[in-house]
Amino acid sequence: MPQQNHKQALQDPVFNILTEAADELGLDCYVIGGFVRDFLLKRGTPKDIDIVAVGSGIELAKVVATKLQGNPKISIFKNFGTAMIKHGKLELEFVGARKESYDHDSRKPSVEDGTLQEDQERRDFTINALALSLNQSNLGDLLDPFDGISDLKNKIIKTPLDPNITYSDDPLRMMRAIRFATQLDFSIELKSLQAITENKERINIVSKERIVDELNKIMLCPKPSIGLSLLHKTGLLEYILPELTALEGIEEVEGQRHKDNFWHTLEVVDNIAKSTEDLWLRWAALLHDIGKAPTKKFHKKIGWTFHGHEFVGSKMVYQLFKRLRMPLNEKMKFVQKLVLMSSRPIVLSEDFVTDSAVRRLVFDAGDFVDDLMTLCEADITTKNPKKQKQYKNNFTLVRQKIIEVEERDHIRNFQPPISGEEIMKTFSIQPSKEIGIIKAAIKEAILEGEIPNEYKAAKSYMLKKGMELGLQSKPGA
Ligand code: ATP
Ligand code: MG
Repeated sequence: MPQQNHKQALQDPVFNILTEAADELGLDCYVIGGFVRDFLLKRGTPKDIDIVAVGSGIELAKVVATKLQGNPKISIFKNFGTAMIKHGKLELEFVGARKESYDHDSRKPSVEDGTLQEDQERRDFTINALALSLNQSNLGDLLDPFDGISDLKNKIIKTPLDPNITYSDDPLRMMRAIRFATQLDFSIELKSLQAITENKERINIVSKERIVDELNKIMLCPKPSIGLSLLHKTGLLEYILPELTALEGIEEVEGQRHKDNFWHTLEVVDNIAKSTEDLWLRWAALLHDIGKAPTKKFHKKIGWTFHGHEFVGSKMVYQLFKRLRMPLNEKMKFVQKLVLMSSRPIVLSEDFVTDSAVRRLVFDAGDFVDDLMTLCEADITTKNPKKQKQYKNNFTLVRQKIIEVEERDHIRNFQPPISGEEIMKTFSIQPSKEIGIIKAAIKEAILEGEIPNEYKAAKSYMLKKGMELGLQSKPGA
């Protein structure tokens, strides 16, 4: 293959400094990995730049730091033989070329110094092993021993060495392969896919945090279903999210079938990815139906039901987040709430939309109501164009009504217009169950639209309710 030169990738002034430092030390030095790949794919220049030196990466970093303006801090990780310099928006990662050998039970290799080629062999994919020389004598020359350039052109993910060894050595690479396939819209070479399938169970030695990291990157892609279906096809998903694979399949009893909720879910995730970049809203879409596997039942008269699946699903969200060491914070509560409420607007979309149903929805969903609507719109996957249109129109109507109701009644983050204290004063009573009854009645009347959400109206309603309960109001109240 003719030698290719890509000097134009090295326009950032930081590369001049790297060249100077490497030549002064007499080290062969290269920029490698994601930076080169993304430059060649014209994906823009990434913020992290990986530099490999044949020799000590740390020594190189030290010299580079003295030449950079503003005396940047250098972080040295002696155990790993790496160093990192933050320079403006850039993160420069330095490492010495090395070869690796792995132990069966851990992702941690033992490493020794190596050549550039050996360093490239330990990389995960041919497209991530591309290196450009930074020494003046051959500045910008591409070093590509595994023809990663062709794989970039043909959009293929392939490992430099036998994929069985590459994936078994570090099973995180299985997740990375699928993540890159999703991000770049590449396909994974068949041999590689088979190796992932064979090594799937080794995902167990990868930390949950790293798995979720890759999963989140997949979820943030324009079409997450690419990655999710690859995870499913290779069998990895069963290890990571068994709640989802449990949704696969269509059962038929007495001629009655239900939809395949796994493939439906993937469609919903792709749909929602078109309307939001919010990772957690996308997670809500991914998990919105997980309660359907444990609640599925067949009834002779009505066919298949998933009674209470939203409630069961929202409980499962907690278990799932906990198992995957995901944050058990307000993000999780958000996902839970959306799963819990995921069917509410659907009922509205199938029927005539009343103001009071919309008020109740806003009351229960609070600030999440817009996200909930986005989820429900993404949930429309019917292939029947007439129904599709009808549901969409109805959701548009619901959204309009939400705005109207909001302007008029301020139901979101509802605060009772009459306090318990005022009720006690008005009827000269001590804390008692009547107060709760009156407060609930006022809230109900507002949600039903019998009275507006205003103090005056609520007060007369309170007096009326109090009388019905046999209470005496103070004169003048
Ligand atoms: P991005 O930063 O967009 O995720 P990247 O390719 O730069 O993509 P990094 O995780 O930043 O990925 O890693 C930098 C480089 O280090 C990769 O291009 C690859 O050459 C190598 N690398 C990273 N992780 C692994 C791994 N688990 N096994 C082998 N090589 C890896
Ligand atoms: Mg990177």
